[in-house]
Amino acid sequence: MTGLRLEIDLDAVAHNARTLVDRLAAVGVSVTGVTKASLGAAPLARALLAAGVRTLGESRIENVESLRRAGITAPITLIRSPLITEAQRVVEHTRTSLVTELAVLRALSVAAGELGRDHGVVLMVELGDLREGILPADLGTVVDETLRLPGLVLRGIGTNLACQSGAAPDTANMTQLSDLADTIEAATGATLEVVSGGNSANLDWALGNPDVGRVNDLRLGESILLGCETLERRPLDGLRTDAFTLVAEVIEAKLKPSTPWGELHQTAFGTAAAVPVRDADDAARVILAVGRQDVDPGGLHAPSGMEVLGASSDHLVLRADGPVPHVGAEVRLTVCGYEALLRAMTSPFVTRCFTGPGAHSTPERAPAT
Ligand SMILES: *Cc1c(COP(=O)(O)O)cnc(C)c1O
Repeated sequence: MTGLRLEIDLDAVAHNARTLVDRLAAVGVSVTGVTKASLGAAPLARALLAAGVRTLGESRIENVESLRRAGITAPITLIRSPLITEAQRVVEHTRTSLVTELAVLRALSVAAGELGRDHGVVLMVELGDLREGILPADLGTVVDETLRLPGLVLRGIGTNLACQSGAAPDTANMTQLSDLADTIEAATGATLEVVSGGNSANLDWALGNPDVGRVNDLRLGESILLGCETLERRPLDGLRTDAFTLVAEVIEAKLKPSTPWGELHQTAFGTAAAVPVRDADDAARVILAVGRQDVDPGGLHAPSGMEVLGASSDHLVLRADGPVPHVGAEVRLTVCGYEALLRAMTSPFVTRCFTGPGAHSTPERAPAT
């Protein structure tokens, strides 16, 4: 196998998923395995399911449809609000969606009627991060409307923190979520089967806390894929941080001065030029045929003896202090950042190669959706 590619070690992903599923099971929390960074890759979804996740979480209906076409029959939760214009597809292919708007609930109810099936709803509550969510004061009205609308099943409530503003899950907001679940049940007589407390940013709270209250589900993506929590991006104990490797070919390798010359203005991406100050000697510079179209250079670990200096659209520039790879050789970089992973997974120029249990024998190019 040659060419720009992302090697995906499903053993490592499965290990991470299984470890988190087990640790959270001990505190009564199940895992929704989030596949959205993978453009709905079926081998990855299978690895998560085999590792014991309760359901899959996807943010885009196109990815859900890819998973269904690939034969994945497990329940899928749509974790971004359905688009009104996609309500039918959502009801057809997912079991549950996370919803915050009455207009969306009504569209799902109509679609459920047309398709003759029920659709599950988890109402998302705003608890301070200021991305999606119903304000707690308005939740009662939306609950009543959900219960009234035919074809909808109120499965539970949830919240999402630490995405837009970095607001962390803590005892106060998690207790509030539990209390809201109790209040809804007392007021309506409904049973909330799911209280979905958040994402990978909730792990420290969930595993460091003797009492998770009513929270019985977390939606985990990044922690499973990259092995880190997401408040400080610390590697999690016992998890693998090496599941994803970007392999790219050297197109130039030369000894050059360490410092650029001429009058320096903005770079290709509008930032000030990074001028190394540490030495005036020549250094080996290596260019790989990969760029910002395919990856975020800040989310890559170069092999030892090399350092990522920067990237433009199609060139990734490294400094080599040890042996210098020759033109045509391949360099392997560990993907450690979520944005780097997201871009590598979704770039049409990067071939995805799955290794380990359940891997496709043939490499999979990111499907054009
Ligand atoms: C992306 C997302 C998740 C998963 O977040 P990670 O940080 O990758 O664990 C969970 N819930 C929602 C609503 C999301 O959008």
